[in-house]
Amino acid sequence: MGYQRPRAEAAMRGMKAEGGWAVVCNQETEIHPTSDLSPFAEGRLWDDRDIPGLRLMTDAIHEHGSLAGIELAHNGSHAPNLLTRAPALAPSDSIIDAGFAPQARAMDKEDIRNLRRWHRDAARRSIEAGFDIIYVYAGHHMTIPHHFLLPQHNDRMDEYGGSLENRVRLTRELLEDTLELAEGKCGVAFRFAIDEVQGADGMQAEEEGRGVVELLAELPDLWDVNVADWPNDSQTTRFQPEDGYQTKYLEMVKQITSKPVVGVGRFTSPDMMASLVRKGVLDMIGAARPSISDPFLPKKIEDGRVDEIRECIGCNICVSADSQGVPIRCTQNPTMGEEWRRGWHPEKIAAKGTEEAALVVGSGPAGLECAMQLARRGYHVTLAEAGKELGGRVRREAGLTGLAAWSRVMDYRLGDLQQRGNVDIFTDSPLGRDEVLELGVPNVFLATGARWRRDGQGRTARFGIEIADDAMVLTPDDVMDGIRPGNGPLVIYDDDHGYLGGVLATHLADLGHDVTFVTSANMVSPFTELTLEQGRVQKSLLERDVQIITAQAVDRIETEVCQLSCMYTGRASRLDCGSALLVTRRDRVTRLFDDLRGHADLNKVELIGDAAAPGLIADAVYSGHRAARNFERLPEEVEQDYYRREITALEG
Ligand code: ADP
Ligand code: SF4
Repeated sequence: MGYQRPRAEAAMRGMKAEGGWAVVCNQETEIHPTSDLSPFAEGRLWDDRDIPGLRLMTDAIHEHGSLAGIELAHNGSHAPNLLTRAPALAPSDSIIDAGFAPQARAMDKEDIRNLRRWHRDAARRSIEAGFDIIYVYAGHHMTIPHHFLLPQHNDRMDEYGGSLENRVRLTRELLEDTLELAEGKCGVAFRFAIDEVQGADGMQAEEEGRGVVELLAELPDLWDVNVADWPNDSQTTRFQPEDGYQTKYLEMVKQITSKPVVGVGRFTSPDMMASLVRKGVLDMIGAARPSISDPFLPKKIEDGRVDEIRECIGCNICVSADSQGVPIRCTQNPTMGEEWRRGWHPEKIAAKGTEEAALVVGSGPAGLECAMQLARRGYHVTLAEAGKELGGRVRREAGLTGLAAWSRVMDYRLGDLQQRGNVDIFTDSPLGRDEVLELGVPNVFLATGARWRRDGQGRTARFGIEIADDAMVLTPDDVMDGIRPGNGPLVIYDDDHGYLGGVLATHLADLGHDVTFVTSANMVSPFTELTLEQGRVQKSLLERDVQIITAQAVDRIETEVCQLSCMYTGRASRLDCGSALLVTRRDRVTRLFDDLRGHADLNKVELIGDAAAPGLIADAVYSGHRAARNFERLPEEVEQDYYRREITALEG
C-alpha cells in the first residue's frame, strides 16, 4: 500500500505485530526524489511531511509490543524517476534497469556527499517517526550501495571503485553515518545480497560476498542476508519447491560475524525454523511471504497450534500486486490488504446473525473458503461436491508439474472443516435444482466453477476457431482429468497468456510428448512476469526442447495440421499437429444458479468464485471469503465497502 495508502499500510503491519512477529519491517522506502519508483507505491520518506504517515504504522506496531523496522533505500539506476524527472544516479554511466527511461549518470563526489546527507536525513526522520531499527540496504540489484559493490555496475577509478575495499566504502560510510545518528537509540541493520546467483558472472557468496561480510562484520547491529535479484530471492514453489532455500548463505555469514543474523527463504515449517536457530545457522527467522500468508504464524507456534498455520504456497500473487502498483493480496490469506479498507481480521469473523444454516455447492477454493468462514461464524454448513474428491481446480492444478505446493490451499481449509462439528461434507453429490430444494437449506452459495472452452474462443478468436470434425482437440480440463493427447506432435495454443499454458507445456513434455507451444503473445506466459517467473518459465520450455512460436494465432485445426496466422501481418503458415490443446478462455458453470435464482423457497442464492468471474485461485478464495463475511449484512453496508479509500489531502 505504501505512501499512497498509509492507513491501510499501518493496519496491515499492525496485524502482523498482533500476530506475534517480534519485528515488523516496512517495504523499501525511498529516501529522496532522485529515488522515485512511481507509479509503484513503496515507502517514501522524502521530507518531514512523510513522517505522520509512517508514524501511523509504528504506532500500530508498537501497540502490540513489536519493534518497527524501516528499509531505507536509494534506488539509483533502478529508479526511473518518472514522477520527479530527476536524473537517475549510479556509480557509473549505465542503463536504467526498470523501464525505458533515460540512462543513469555516474555520481560525482558531490552526489556521494548528497546521498550520505539524504540517508542521514532519512534516518533522523525514521527516528522521529518512531522506528526502532533502521536499515542500510544493499540488495536485490535495487539500491545504490549494492550497485557500488558490483563490478558490472561500478567501473570507477577513484576511491569508490576498483578493489573490494573501495567498492565497500560507500556502504561503510552509510552504516557509520546511520550508527552515529542512531546513538544507540535504535538498531542499525544491514541488508545484504551475498550472492547474485549468476555463478562467476556475478558476486558469489564464497568469493566477494564473503569478502564484504569480513570487511563489515562487526559494524551493523544486525545482518539481514539474502540473494539478488528479486526473482532469485522470492522464488516460487514452481521452480524452487524447497522451503528455507537460502540457508546455505546464512550459515556462512553467521560464522564470520558475532552480530545477530536474520534471513529469509520462504520458511513455513516451525520445526525447520527451530532447528536452524538451534544449529546456529541464523538467530532470527525472517519472513515476508509466510507472514503475508499467515500474519499469526508466531502466535500459533507459541500456542502450540502449529496445525492451524496457513502455509504460503509460493505462488507470488502477492508480488504480482506490487508489480501492478495495486494493494497487496494473497492466495492463502484473503484478508491481506483488507485490514483497514474492509476491517477484515485473518483470525476473527463476526458471529452469525439470525439465519441458521447454509449450503455450499462446489468444493474448489471458493467453496472451501466460503464453507470454512460460514462455519467459523457458527452456521450449520452443508458442503456438496459433484466429484469423488474435494478441492476443485486446486486439486486438479496441483497435479501438474511444479504446482504440488498449491494443494496447501485445499489442505488448510479441509483440515479446518473436518474438525468442526457444524459441517457436513458430501462428495459424489452432483446437485441439481430438485436436490437443492429437497435439502431444505434456504441459503445457497454456488461455487460451481468454470470449464475451459473446446472451440478456441478467447482473446484472439472472439467467435472461435475452425475445427475439423476428426481433429483431436483437448482442453486443460481434459489433461487434468488424465486424458492424454494422441500420437504425433502436440500443439499447445495459449491465447490466455496466464500461467496454465506454460505449466501444461512442461507437464506434457515431461510425459514424453513432442510439444510445440504456439501463443498469440510475444513471449511464453506473459502474466508470469508479474510473479517474477517469466524467465524461468521460458527457460523451462526451452530446456525441454519445446518449440516456441510467438505472436501467432491458431485459425484452423485440421487432421494432422493446423493453420496459423501472424498477429502482425496476418501472413498464414501451417504446422504439423497430431493433437491440439486449447488454452483460450473458460465458461462459467451457472446452470444450477440459473435454475435456482429467485426461487420462492430460497432466501439467498449467490454465485461465487470462478462461476461468478473466472480468475486466479486467489480471486476465488477472496470471493468465497467475501460472500461468507457479507452474509446477513445489509446490502447498503456491503456496497459501502467499495468506497473506503484514502484520499490525498490538498496541501502544498
Ligand atoms: P472455484 O475456483 O470457483 O472454487 P472450481 O472449479 O475449483 O471453482 O470448483 C468448482 C467445483 O464445483 C468442482 O469441484 C465441481 O465438481 C463442483 N460442482 C460444479 N457443479 C456442481 C454441482 N451441480 N453440484 C456439486 N458440485 C458441483
Ligand atoms: Fe505466499 Fe502466494 Fe500468499 Fe504470496 S500470495 S504470501 S506466495 S501464498
